[in-house]
Amino acid sequence: MVHEWALAESIILYIKQQGYVNIKKLRVCIGVLQSIDKEILNYALRELAEEYGVKLDKVELVDEYPLLKCNVCGFMWSINPSEISDDVREAIHFIPEAIYAYYKCPRCGSLDYSIVKGRGISEISVDVHE
Ligand SMILES: [Zn+2]
Repeated sequence: MVHEWALAESIILYIKQQGYVNIKKLRVCIGVLQSIDKEILNYALRELAEEYGVKLDKVELVDEYPLLKCNVCGFMWSINPSEISDDVREAIHFIPEAIYAYYKCPRCGSLDYSIVKGRGISEISVDVHE
């Protein structure tokens, strides 16, 4: 899929820009609300690393759980992925905003909340060889 390749390219370009070319471990946190195929992303990262002259030993792709914040009462809560049914997971994978159809603030019941974490790439870290 094009999406994973575009993402992989921006990650590789980013780490190269930071001056990292000899990497022991690349760790990327991916929000589970993003429809990313980790197998494809992993493959794309490795292919593109080679293409861009970045040595990449190990890739670790970590799921990041959704963190939500109520805009009415300020309550913050996260959703345990194991509590998300497959139907819902599929729906919100395609359209993260679909989450509003399934969840409301557990404290005040509001549907007016923000997705603080759980979409896109939230963290990229690298361990480099000395
Ligand atoms: Zn609330």
